[in-house]
Amino acid sequence: MKKPTPKKAKIAKKINKKKPGVEVNKALKEKMLEIIDQRPSWDEYFLNIMQTIGTRSTCDRGRLGCVIVKDRRIISGGYSGSPAGCKHCDEVGHEMHTVIQEDGTESRHCIRTSHAEQNAIVQAAKAGVSTDGSVLYIKMTPCYTCAKMIINAGIKKVVALNDYHAGSRSREIFKEAGIEYVLVNNKMQEYPDSGKK
Ligand SMILES: [Zn+2]
Ligand SMILES: [Zn+2]
Repeated sequence: MKKPTPKKAKIAKKINKKKPGVEVNKALKEKMLEIIDQRPSWDEYFLNIMQTIGTRSTCDRGRLGCVIVKDRRIISGGYSGSPAGCKHCDEVGHEMHTVIQEDGTESRHCIRTSHAEQNAIVQAAKAGVSTDGSVLYIKMTPCYTCAKMIINAGIKKVVALNDYHAGSRSREIFKEAGIEYVLVNNKMQEYPDSGKK
């Protein structure tokens, strides 16, 4: 057999060296694609964080959390809880309030806490961070008061995981004010004493 020229032998050596690398790169690429497949979408990512924040809530009737995001960065967060320095539901019990809905049904609400959305907006104000043009992630459709605050905070989009039994006015004013409202699950959030059976 003809002996390869020194130059050809050098090239062959190089190629042989590269071959195992090619295999490794292929396996790595497949693994990367697998990981990319498992990565949550941006909405899922922020909704997961919102749920984690909610675990810090001090009222066990909802354990709501909220995240405010701008340009895919978290600028503020909040959970339902009493004003700073005030007693919590978990320590002294709920502060219940009965509301008669327009359709005549009664629903009971705990009014001791500031809602997660309110606390997230207030945290941004306290830190001097603008919420103008941001996106708000929340466990359920905001109540009427929170919806009004969201609009006036300049928040442009609301992503709610579940619906809220008393959320119809919020949905109406979001539409009226041009706020994009996304309901992820077309399901009513289970809530004690909601008045709807
Ligand atoms: Zn409570
Ligand atoms: Zn609210």
